[in-house]
Amino acid sequence: MGAELSTAKELLGRLVAFDTTSHKTNIPLIAFVEDYLNRHGIDSVRVPTADGQKASLFATIGPSGTGGVALSGHTDVVPVASQNWSTDPFTMVERDGRLYGRGTCDMKGYLACVLALVPAFKARRLSLPIHIAFSYDEEVGCTGVRPMIAELGKTLVLPRMVVVGEPTTMTVVDAHKGPVRWSVDVTGKAAHSSMPHLGVNAITYAARLLGELARMEEELKRLPPNPRFDPPYTSLQVTQVEGGTASNIVPVPCWFGWEIRRLPGYDGMDLDQRLRRFAAEHCLPEMQRIAPETGIRIDITNEVPAFEAGPNSAAVPLALKLAEQNATFAVCYATEASLFQRGGAPSVVIGPGDIAQAHKPDEFLHVSELEKCLAFLARIADWCETG
Ligand SMILES: [Zn+2]
Repeated sequence: MGAELSTAKELLGRLVAFDTTSHKTNIPLIAFVEDYLNRHGIDSVRVPTADGQKASLFATIGPSGTGGVALSGHTDVVPVASQNWSTDPFTMVERDGRLYGRGTCDMKGYLACVLALVPAFKARRLSLPIHIAFSYDEEVGCTGVRPMIAELGKTLVLPRMVVVGEPTTMTVVDAHKGPVRWSVDVTGKAAHSSMPHLGVNAITYAARLLGELARMEEELKRLPPNPRFDPPYTSLQVTQVEGGTASNIVPVPCWFGWEIRRLPGYDGMDLDQRLRRFAAEHCLPEMQRIAPETGIRIDITNEVPAFEAGPNSAAVPLALKLAEQNATFAVCYATEASLFQRGGAPSVVIGPGDIAQAHKPDEFLHVSELEKCLAFLARIADWCETG
């Protein structure tokens, strides 16, 4: 374990040094992992984007042609821009039992553990394979993993279980909420602000829509709660607003973004229809009476299903046993688990690090979390050996 821990730390330092902020390429990191696997005699398959700037990577250790346990994680990280870091975010620093650096917690620490154990996995006589499934663009709406999941059961073997290593402090998460995000563009008509009656004020109409969203938010809070989640209801909020041009012009553009985070079992599309209906009945007739070219455009920009492993999942009791835990948890952030589950692979979320440290300046991972994760992954290998 000591040797594996130092390998994991060293690999984590290497992974952190690749600036894989979601809007940048992840190819240098993928090439590094490919090369690392290659040196251990393991072939991997890239699932690239059309422009070749990003790729997922899938590899199998052990018997081919049969589904095993997939160890899944994303290679991208959130931006460091406008964050105040004490040290260079892309140079990992160890201090007081903590590893600092962008992505140490979310979630290169898990990737490093998986890679550090590759020689050990290789040395086992696995009766079930261990798959490695690394994705991109998770932080911008779990979009990058989707083309890889589409290949499962086709060009890539469908795993019998997926362990998504997002930071859960090594507890087993068997449910999460599913976000939907919208973008709303209100287009008004310009006029001198001394003559507001000649223009159409985009901000005024956006405000009406925001009022309707606020009513929807309150109604969602009054629905029967699911106490596994905190908050125990489908949350709704406005996340961004931008509008107007100058203090003496009736504003033409107003844009806002809003989101819901759905409890499992609720698709939320009634809210989409309700906002569109509200716009059609309470905004557009007035706006277009003054200027027919004005309008409101509502787009869904991202949707990740909610995740619920369900009472019949074989993955959950197995994960609990291997993690030496006796309770599962539900979280409000989204992961790729719901997409794997929808793709036919039973999934759980369990990984090193605390989500409280993710996405923040001076992001860190406790070394003890790496140790726990290595031990957990070794028990997965035990299970894959004995079946
Ligand atoms: Zn993550």
